[in-house]
Amino acid sequence: MARATDGRRDDAMTGEPEHQGAGGSERWFRNLLTSISDTVTLVDRELRVLYTTGAVNGVLGYPTDFWQGVLPFDAVHPDDLPRVLADWERSLASPGVEVSSESRMRAADGSWHDISITGVNLLDDPEVGGVVITTRNITALRQAERLASSQAAVLERVARGAPTTEIAGDCIELMHRNGLRGIASIYLLEGDRLELRAGDAPRSVRDWVREPVRDPARSLCDRAMATETPVVIVDLGMAELDEGLRAIVAAEGIRSAWSVPIASISSGRPVGSLSILAEEAVEPTAHERQVADVAASLVAIAVERERNESQLAHQALHDALTGLPNRALLLDRTDHALARREATGASLALLFCDVDRFKVINDSLGHNVGDQLLVAFADRLRAVVSPTDTVARFGGDEFVVLLEEVAGPEEPVRLAEQLAAALEEPFVLAGGKEVYLTASIGLAMADDHAAGDEWLRDADAAMYRAKDEGRNRLVLFDTQMRDAALRRLQVEHDLRRAVARDELVVHYQPVIDLDRGSIVGAEALVRWQHPERGLLSPAEFVAVAEDIGTIGELGRHVLDVALRELSSLEVVDPATFHLGVNVSARQVSEPDLDQMVGAALERHGWPPSSLLLEVTESALVEVDHPVEALARLQELGVQLAIDDFGTGHSSLARLGRLPVDWVKVDQSFVGALDGPDRRLGRIVDAVIALAGALDLGTSAEGVETHAQLDELRRKRCHLAQGYLFSKPVPLDELRDLLASDPRW
Ligand code: C2E
Ligand code: CA
Ligand code: CA
Repeated sequence: MARATDGRRDDAMTGEPEHQGAGGSERWFRNLLTSISDTVTLVDRELRVLYTTGAVNGVLGYPTDFWQGVLPFDAVHPDDLPRVLADWERSLASPGVEVSSESRMRAADGSWHDISITGVNLLDDPEVGGVVITTRNITALRQAERLASSQAAVLERVARGAPTTEIAGDCIELMHRNGLRGIASIYLLEGDRLELRAGDAPRSVRDWVREPVRDPARSLCDRAMATETPVVIVDLGMAELDEGLRAIVAAEGIRSAWSVPIASISSGRPVGSLSILAEEAVEPTAHERQVADVAASLVAIAVERERNESQLAHQALHDALTGLPNRALLLDRTDHALARREATGASLALLFCDVDRFKVINDSLGHNVGDQLLVAFADRLRAVVSPTDTVARFGGDEFVVLLEEVAGPEEPVRLAEQLAAALEEPFVLAGGKEVYLTASIGLAMADDHAAGDEWLRDADAAMYRAKDEGRNRLVLFDTQMRDAALRRLQVEHDLRRAVARDELVVHYQPVIDLDRGSIVGAEALVRWQHPERGLLSPAEFVAVAEDIGTIGELGRHVLDVALRELSSLEVVDPATFHLGVNVSARQVSEPDLDQMVGAALERHGWPPSSLLLEVTESALVEVDHPVEALARLQELGVQLAIDDFGTGHSSLARLGRLPVDWVKVDQSFVGALDGPDRRLGRIVDAVIALAGALDLGTSAEGVETHAQLDELRRKRCHLAQGYLFSKPVPLDELRDLLASDPRW
C-alpha cells in the first residue's frame, strides 16, 4: 500500500537544518522529535543514515547503534521487502513528493510489528540533502483493525444463525489469526458437564475439564467460572495444582495455561470457559487478552442466540399456562406416531379429554381461578399417564393424551378410569373453596388414519358423544361419529348467524292446571328453522350454543319473542297466564341477567309474576352463587322453577336454601308412574311431599297417558304438561287451543 502525495514538507525539520551540530537549536529539535511517537530518519542516496531519532528512543527494542550506518532492511519482513524497495526507488525518482509505504518489521525480541513509512526526497534541497523518512509503529492499530474485522465476520455468522459449535470453531480460528499464542479451546456447560465445543486441547485435558465436579481447585476453567475473571498461570510447574491435573500437564508438556470465563449475556452466570495452553511460559499480552475477551464474548452471544431460539421454539410448541405440548406439537407427534406405526405395527391410542362445564366455572369463578384449575387438572392428568406418553393441551379446557404402543383399547380405558378416580378428590382453591371437576373423554385407536388431524378429529367426535351422553364418561369412537362431528361443526357455524337471520322460532307447550283441568299457561320452547335441515329441536343446538357462547343471545331472543307473541294474543290474559321460559346455566351466571329480564318485561308490558323462569337442577350446580343470582331475579317479581328435578343429584339441603317457587318433576319419573319400575314412580311422591314441605308448587312434565294424569291428580300435583294434552305448537295453534278452552 504505497501512496504518493504531492506536497513538499515545509515544517520545522526542514526549516532547522542543524542536524550535524550540537548547538542549542539541535537540542530543541531532538526534544521535539523524541517527544512524538514517530521516528524521523534522514538518509542519503545510498541509504546511509545521516540522522535518526530512533537512535535516541530505542525503536523496536534494538540498541541505539542498530540504527546507525545503513538502514536495517534485514529487519523488514522478506515478503514486504520488494515493495519497500520499490517505494524507495520511487521516492528517489520523485523529489519532493511524499511516498507512503507499510511493512512488517521484526523487533529485537523477534516479534513482528506493523510499521508505516513515509519518505520525502529532499536530496536536492541544499538545506537538507537527504531523504526524510518518518516511521510509525502502527501494530496496535492494525491489530485492533484485524480483530475488529474478524469479530465482525463472526458476528455476522452468528446473526445468520450458524450453530454455536461452528461459532466456537470460528472463535478458535479468530484467536489464532489474531496472534494468540498457545492451543485454544472452548468449553461450554451442558448440564453439569463442561464439554469441549471447539479447539485442540489434548484428550486427557478435555476429559479432566469435562468431569461434572465444578471445583475451582481442580481446574482452571472451573476457577475462571467460579471467580468470573480470567485465570492466568504462566508457569504451571511453579503453581499449586491438583495432583491429577499436575500429572496431565506434565505428561502433555504444558507449561502455561489460562482460562477466560464465558458469561451468559442475559443472566451473567458462567456458561463455559475458554482455555489456552502453551508449551512455553507465556504471559498473555494486553492484545492477547483482548483477543480472548472478544472470542469469549462472541461465544456468549452465540450461546444466547441459541438459547433464545430454543426458548422461542419451546414457546412455539408448548402451552404457556401448563407447560404441556401444544396443539402444533401434538399434531407433529401424532403424525410421527402414525408414520412409525407403519413400521412397527404397534397399536396407538388418543384420549381426548374435555373438562365438563368448564366455561361455566370460568365465567363464574373468574379466569384466574379457571387458569389455576386447568393447571391442577393438567397435573392430575400427567400423574396418571406414564412419562413417555404425550399429554398435550389442545385448547382451552381440552387435553389430549397420546399413548404409543398400547396392547389394545383396554389400556387407555384403564387410564381414563384412573383419571376419573383422580378427579374424585376436590380441587381446593385459595380460600379453601372446593371445586369438583369431571371430564368427558373420547377414545380413538389409530386405524387407517393418514394423518394426525383426522385421528384427533375422531377422538374429538367421541368426546362430543361423551358430552351428549351426559358428560363425565368415556366413549370409544366408532365411524358413525364422524358424520355427527361434521354435523356439529356445521351447527356451530350456522348457529352464530341463526339469531341475526331470524331463524329461531318459538313453540309453546300448554300447561294444565290439574285442579281445573284447563290450560293456564305455556312453556316456550325454542326451535331452529334451519335453511337446509328444516326444523331442528333444541337437543341439536342448545348445548352447542352453550359451548360456543351464543346461549345468552339465544336466551334473550327467545324471551323477547315469547313475551311479544303472547302479549299479542287476545285469548291470553297476562295477569293470570303462566309463561315458562328456559334459562341456561351460563345465563344465570351472567351478572346482568336480572336487568335483561326486567327490560324485556317492561318492553312488552308483561307482569313479572306471570313469567316463570325454568333453570335445570344441574345448571344450578354449576353456578357459583346460585342463591344470590336467583334472589336478584326474584326481586323482579318473577317466579322461578327448578327444571328436570330429580336428575341433578342436588341435595335436599341445597334445594331448601334455593329461592324458588316451583319444582318441575322430570319426565323420567312421570313416565315411571305407569311403567314397570314402580320404585322410580314413587320418587314422584317424594318430590311432591318435599315440595309441599318447602311450600313450593309442583309441575309434572312429559305426561303422556291418562294413567299418569290420574296418578298426578291423586298425588295433588298442581300443574302438568305433556303430549297427552298437546305437543309444543306454533303460536297460531296455541291460540286456537286456548280459544277452544279444552278440559281434561
Ligand atoms: P325441557 O325444558 O325439559 O323441555 C321439555 C321437553 O320435553 C321439550 O323438548 C318438550 O318438547 C318435551 N316434551 C314435552 N312433553 C313431552 C311428552 O309428553 N313426552 C316426551 N317424550 N317429551 C315431551 P324440547 O322442546 O326438545 O326441549 C328440550 C330441552 O331444550 C328443554 O327441556 C330445555 O331444557 C331446552 N330448551 C328448549 N328451549 C330452550 C330455550 O329457549 N332456552 C334454553 N336455555 N333451553 C331450551
Ligand atoms: Ca323447561
Ligand atoms: Ca324439563
